Amino acid sequence: MDWHRIRSDFPILDQQVNGHPLVYLDSAASSQKPRAVIQTLTHYYERDNANVHRALHELSNRATEAFEATRGKVARLIGAASEDEIIFTRGTTEGINLVANTWGTQNLRAGDVILLTGMEHHSNLVPWHLLAQRTGATLKHIPVLDDGTLDLAQLDTLLTEQVKLFAFVHVSNSLGTINPAKELIAKAKAVGAVTLLDGAQSVGHMPIDVQDLGCDFLAFSGHKMCGPTGIGALYGRMALLESMPPWHGGGEMILNVTLEGSTYKPPPHRFEAGTPDISGVIGLGAAIDYLQAIGLENIQRHDHNLANYAVQLMGEVPGIRILGPLSGHRGALVAFHLDFAHPHDLVEFANSHGVAMRGGHHCTQPLMRRFKVPGTTRASFYFYNTLEEINRLVEVLHLARKFFA
Ligand code: PLP
Repeated sequence: MDWHRIRSDFPILDQQVNGHPLVYLDSAASSQKPRAVIQTLTHYYERDNANVHRALHELSNRATEAFEATRGKVARLIGAASEDEIIFTRGTTEGINLVANTWGTQNLRAGDVILLTGMEHHSNLVPWHLLAQRTGATLKHIPVLDDGTLDLAQLDTLLTEQVKLFAFVHVSNSLGTINPAKELIAKAKAVGAVTLLDGAQSVGHMPIDVQDLGCDFLAFSGHKMCGPTGIGALYGRMALLESMPPWHGGGEMILNVTLEGSTYKPPPHRFEAGTPDISGVIGLGAAIDYLQAIGLENIQRHDHNLANYAVQLMGEVPGIRILGPLSGHRGALVAFHLDFAHPHDLVEFANSHGVAMRGGHHCTQPLMRRFKVPGTTRASFYFYNTLEEINRLVEVLHLARKFFA
């Protein structure tokens, strides 16, 4: 793979920040976009812009065709049995809220258990807090071990028949841990629990096959996988989607409306009220084409090489504490704490050297408490990053030590 050529597809990366070449290490928050995606958006607005599904004129037909084609692309990307199992959302957060507010409200009662883990992003905690408050269901969590993996020894005790839903993160955005999704889902199914996988950090980074994984729901965000912001998708197994009531009501999701009531379309349109993010969906389609041309296995391998190289090199910085697994597979990020600098100060220092990272709790406050840190600094990678950039990051960490210590 010619990763340097692939990197040149990203115009934004070719710039100086504070007098230094930009080193963008914040892709776990949002990835950069290749020219192919940017040009698709420009083309859509210059040539095809119109509302979808509604008119029979040429522009609307073109927009509808490109919009609906993306549903098939998403389905193929994640191995769904049908494109009708793909609901367009604003992102992972909205996908999880959709499940909580439809399937959750319909199915959960007092006494039921929602099983989560101690490493969830707030977007896979707060919707369940709200659901538990509404229904009287109880929340339980699989604890996180010191090495940043789940305490699976607790699973048999926690995964009882009271568990109606097991929702967990595939790749932790704060630890880099890759959870054994297939194994966990199989165990949850054995007690009859519905499963939801938070794929925000895995889709677009590795091959995903929802049928092989066996999950009932998978939520993810387009902006973390080279697509535009404001668009994502929720996969739901058709039998479940068909049983679920709508969440948002409005145009596009109905079959028939009278002044007194309405009937609804089948999935996925039942869950897509109002004018959707048309350009976002079409841009997501371009991102998927782009990623698949590179190959998800290749991206996964490159992610893995970058992360392992980073862990190894960063481990040599005096005073560093890296969170998450130190050996084996990890996602494309390294979160760490330096004993001589607060994450926010370090991020500012790195920025003054052209290095973009994120500092704080990364929307995982319970996890920060678990590890007794106020926050961490996170360097996160994607396939457009290079080993040279990791060298530069480590150089800047050594400079930071001289500066702060
Ligand atoms: N889950 C994980 C693991 C994430 O990393 C993120 C984003 O950082 C989310 C959920 C929420 O994604 P979004 O803000 O795109 O809805």
